[in-house]
Amino acid sequence: MEVLKNKVALVTGAGSGIGKCVAELYARNGASVVISDIDEKGGEAVAKAIQQAGGKAIFVKSDSSNPGDCEQLVAQTLSEFKQLDIACNNAGIGGAAAPTGEYPLEEWQKVININLNGVFYGMRYQLPAMEKAGGGVIVNMASILGAVGFAGSCAYVAAKHGVVGLTQAAAVEYSAKGIRVNAVGPGFIETPLLTKHLSQEQMQALVGLHPIGRLGQPEEVAEMVLWLSSPQSSFVTGGYYPIDGAYLAR
Ligand code: NAD
Repeated sequence: MEVLKNKVALVTGAGSGIGKCVAELYARNGASVVISDIDEKGGEAVAKAIQQAGGKAIFVKSDSSNPGDCEQLVAQTLSEFKQLDIACNNAGIGGAAAPTGEYPLEEWQKVININLNGVFYGMRYQLPAMEKAGGGVIVNMASILGAVGFAGSCAYVAAKHGVVGLTQAAAVEYSAKGIRVNAVGPGFIETPLLTKHLSQEQMQALVGLHPIGRLGQPEEVAEMVLWLSSPQSSFVTGGYYPIDGAYLAR
């Protein structure tokens, strides 16, 4: 069943990992998808793969930490597909690992700019377009670290807690206008965000934090994002949904 038939969806950070899986799943469920990323090669490849599978997708190069780019991204979506029904604000980075008292100042700015400001800039331009159209759905990518702390990751933890707060604020403001806004809280997921930067030993240590006994896969997160984006979740707004192999329950 194509639950997103005739819908237009925009996904940031869709050139890799979770965003790529979300974009592909949206397309398989009938949506026309705008693939947005700063990585041209990754983003183009995802759009091409969707087109080759018979889906509708375009790639738009866009930096989520740049408000002008975020405004332009919505404008290009509207000019190409005439509507914007769903936005998944997913672009993010891990950032440096250091204790808060030693955290590099420029790295703090960078992580906050992409992981927190990026979600605000996204919603800043998506919400008016959706409001004008009479409705829409936004899914923001938070993390388990939007609910608890993690040593060495103060900027990431602060940004993701901020994403949960922003999500709640927007949901309170826009739910009566037909726009639902939710946040997803993945546990550690096997994507380049981890695999590019961590050793096998470090990955194994992360596995031990998840009672389910493994890391998550990006496809599993995409399934939750799809449900939150679909009419099946019509009464769900303002929520934060962990998908974490019992990481938080522990
Ligand atoms: P990833 O590195 O595989 O993909 C992230 C994508 O975002 C990349 O394609 C990258 O080019 C893009 N990106 C980075 N900065 C950008 C910017 N300024 N503008 C536009 N695009 C940008 O990582 P992922 O694991 O798929 O992460 C996706 C989201 O999920 C992030 O917000 C991350 O914090 C969150 N998340 C990841 C995990 C995990 O363990 N992998 C856990 C919880 C939450």
